[in-house]
Amino acid sequence: HAEVNTLRRQLGVRIAGFDPPRPVHTFAQLGLDGALLAAIKRAGFDKPTAIQAQAIPAALSGRDVLGIAKTGSGKTAAFVLPMLVHIMDQPELEKGTGPIGVIVAPTRELSEQIHKEARKFSKPYNLRVAAAFGGLSKYEQFKDLKGGSEVAVCTPGRMIDLIKMKACTMHRTTFLVFDEADRMFDMGFEPQVRSILGQVRPDRQTLLFSATMPNKVENLVRDALTSPVRVTVGEIGA
Ligand code: ADP
Ligand code: MG
Repeated sequence: HAEVNTLRRQLGVRIAGFDPPRPVHTFAQLGLDGALLAAIKRAGFDKPTAIQAQAIPAALSGRDVLGIAKTGSGKTAAFVLPMLVHIMDQPELEKGTGPIGVIVAPTRELSEQIHKEARKFSKPYNLRVAAAFGGLSKYEQFKDLKGGSEVAVCTPGRMIDLIKMKACTMHRTTFLVFDEADRMFDMGFEPQVRSILGQVRPDRQTLLFSATMPNKVENLVRDALTSPVRVTVGEIGA
């Protein structure tokens, strides 16, 4: 225990929640398979950032995760890597349609970055990563979703449009991520976020990341996450 606390102190990570798993020093300690480790190496990631060191083991253990960390801390891989493991663990991956992993981000630019990173890390598995955000053809996006992408990276408004067009349902979605939740609410997307939440089975795994924790985000955490592991990196204002 003393050793775990020392590592958390070195990382600048604070943790709360029931029985949190221990952080890791290295990607190798995460028990990922060789193909994914190789992709991480190719990306030039030598060792996990603080948020990754604590949030990835928590997510891999099946827990809901609240990650509070500022921009540039490596949050994308913190949710993309456990999401890929979750998807590859599905016994009936070949059956059914609709995304298994859904990542919701506030803007097209952020979604684009996440889409790129998700595609990069999913290459070893040949998973299909659909884009559902502005700036790209809605028709192409419709086809990708309808064709059975295992992952969807989206902005709230476009995802709801595509669901209304019957491009997909969220019946198969068991891993849901909200990135930059505070910005999502600043931009007025709370109704869309709540609508998406209402369409995903309650026994899903949910990860939520935010740089700040205003009351609205705390309320969403309470409504959307079950007994989360709460990981805070650095000093965070509300
Ligand atoms: P955030 O979402 O917290 O702003 P990103 O996930 O966008 O952070 O990561 C910021 C930058 O750091 C990106 O260029 C990303 O490729 C890089 N990065 C992420 N994790 C690592 C790591 N473990 N080692 C080296 N670089 C990393
Ligand atoms: Mg980010």
